[in-house]
Formats: sequence, C-alpha cells, structure tokens
Amino acid sequence: MNYPEAVENMQTNTTQAGSGEATSEFGKVPTSHMFQSVYSNGHWQAGKLMPFQALALSPFSLCLHYGQTVFEGMKAFRTVNGTISLFRPDLHYKRMQESLQRMCMPGLPPSLFMEGLESLVRRDAEWLTNDVEETALYIRPFVIATETRLGVKIADQYHFLIVATPITQYYSKPLSLKVETSYVRAAPGGAGFAKNGGNYGAAFYPYSQALTQGYDQVIWTDAIQHEFIEESGTMNIMFIIENRLITPPLSGTILDGVTRRSLLQLAASVGMTVEERRISYKEVKKWLEENKKVEAFGAGTAAVIAPIERIGMDGQDYMTYTAADAIMFRLQRDLENIRRGRQSDNWNWNHFIAP
Ligand SMILES: *Cc1c(COP(=O)(O)O)cnc(C)c1O
Repeated sequence: MNYPEAVENMQTNTTQAGSGEATSEFGKVPTSHMFQSVYSNGHWQAGKLMPFQALALSPFSLCLHYGQTVFEGMKAFRTVNGTISLFRPDLHYKRMQESLQRMCMPGLPPSLFMEGLESLVRRDAEWLTNDVEETALYIRPFVIATETRLGVKIADQYHFLIVATPITQYYSKPLSLKVETSYVRAAPGGAGFAKNGGNYGAAFYPYSQALTQGYDQVIWTDAIQHEFIEESGTMNIMFIIENRLITPPLSGTILDGVTRRSLLQLAASVGMTVEERRISYKEVKKWLEENKKVEAFGAGTAAVIAPIERIGMDGQDYMTYTAADAIMFRLQRDLENIRRGRQSDNWNWNHFIAP
C-alpha cells in the first residue's frame, strides 16, 4: 500500500502584540519577528531579521539526531522612563560561547550576537507594552546543527536563530521539590555546565517520576555521593539561613546562572554573608529538624526567584520559611527594581537599546 503524500503548511504567528493571549502561558506565543544567521564554509554569514516563520529542515539535519543544539534564555525590559534594556547580555554571550565550545559547535562573533538581539528587540518593541508594567520579553538565542547527513559526525553547517516571547512577571507558586538521590543530571567531565538540549531531555523522566509523587520538580544531587545539592530544573538552588546566602559552587556540573551571580552580588552588597560551598542535603535536613528558619529558592531568568516551601528528603517532607517578609523576596524586589530602572544600576547590568 502507498501512503498519500502529505503537503502541510506549518502555521506561523498570527497573534497581535499586546493581546492578553500573548502572556497567559509561558513560551507559547512568538513575537512577530526572528533573527537568523547561517554558518557554512567556516564562517557565519551576515544575519537577517525576518517575520517569525517555520524552518525548512531536512529530516537528515544533524541536530535532529545527535544533539548538537545549544540555547540561551534572557530577558528584555521596558524601564520606568520608557527605554528598553537587556539584562546582562555579556554574561549570556559568554555562557553561550562556553556551551558551543563544549558541544563542538562554532563560536559566535560578539557583534553577531549583540546585533541580532538588538535588532530583534528593537523591531518587536511594541510587544513590550507601556501599560503592562511587568511585561518582559523572554529571548531565546539558539544554535542548531543543520548539515544534512545521517552519519554521526561534527556538523559543518549550523543555524543561529533568535526568537522571543512575551512573559508577565508572574508570582511563582511556592514549589514542592524532592531531593533526587538515584537519577543524575550531570557528572564531572560531562556537559552539565552547558545549555545544550540533551541535558533537558534526559531530565524529563526523573522529573515525571517526581510529579507522580506529588512534587513539582527534583533537586539534583552530585553524581558520585548522591548527597551534595546541585540545582533544580532550569534554576540554581539557594538557601538563606541566619542572614547567610548559601549556594553550591560552580563545579562544571551546574549552570553558571546569571540570576545566581546577580543575587550573590546583591546579597553581599546589602550585608549578607555569601557562601559558595558544597551543601549536603543532610545538612539542610539537620537545619530543618532543629527548627531553624530556613529559606530555600530557585534562581533563574524566567521566575527570578521561585520560593521552595516543601523539600522531600529520604522519604520525608520538610517545610521551609516562605512568609512575605522572607529575605528572598527582598532580593527579588531589588533585582526587579534595578532591571526596571526604579533602583540605581550600580554595576551596569542593564544594556540599553537605542530606539
Ligand atoms: C538556564 C539555567 C539556569 C539559570 O540560569 P539563568 O542565567 O539565571 O537563567 C540554571 N540551571 C539550569 C540547568 C539552566 O538551564
């Protein structure tokens, strides 16, 4: 029997800027445009801005088979005086270069990365409405291997794309997380520090197991002792206890989060003691068993901070401090105020985009 030949047109974006639909569910609605550059014959070609549209990819494209895909996630804001700023794009660029290098993919010229970001945000600026104070653009630069070949090899052709979606600064419901001591996200020598697609696909099964057990996500532990806390989902993990901000050190198995770095700097500047050190989940369990006031939260671009209210460890649940006066919310407000131009940007974290 012969199957009929299907010719389908993939739908592209038809949503208007500013419609409520745009922000109801994270990451579903693209803005009107996208940026693209192609790498071939050993160099990146000039990039171009185009209407958001489907990609034509051969089923032989290497990215579909062997995982050479790398992405970034960052935000653009409209500040109180109407200007638009990107938050710390230099750090996102640096991290993308490190991810690309680890995945044996070609680095991007800094000018291509910045021009791509700026031209897309400028073109789609109407999506950053003035009236919706807390709207931001979540921006996703990514590189995929597009050489067409079924053999396992390092690709020699790639696409660099930048797309964006509107996001409302939502209140993140306090999370219930399970400390994972069987499955592993990243091991020393692996690619845990890179934002490459495979890291996320491999995390879905343990995540789904946690969901069926009534948790929102897992807290990963180290690959060797299954004891030292690493991170959670797409967030770095932090604890606050006795005016100390404690977070695992960068060791190659966790993401070097821009939010993490920013919060560490902010916390130190308001007089908190900052500790980047290994944290055994048993230490956290001990704090909670001693009824210490412990704040726990995830730190990442999407939610800034996501409070954690319940932590499952060795089959038992422990509650942490999430009341409105928790210090984590103060750090979150400070960071948000800097991004929105309501508080002075002492470290020049905002990169302004000329209209
Ligand atoms: C992106 C990401 C983070 C957070 O990084 P930010 O730069 O703060 O957004 C943390 N962990 C993982 C695994 C991530 O993918």
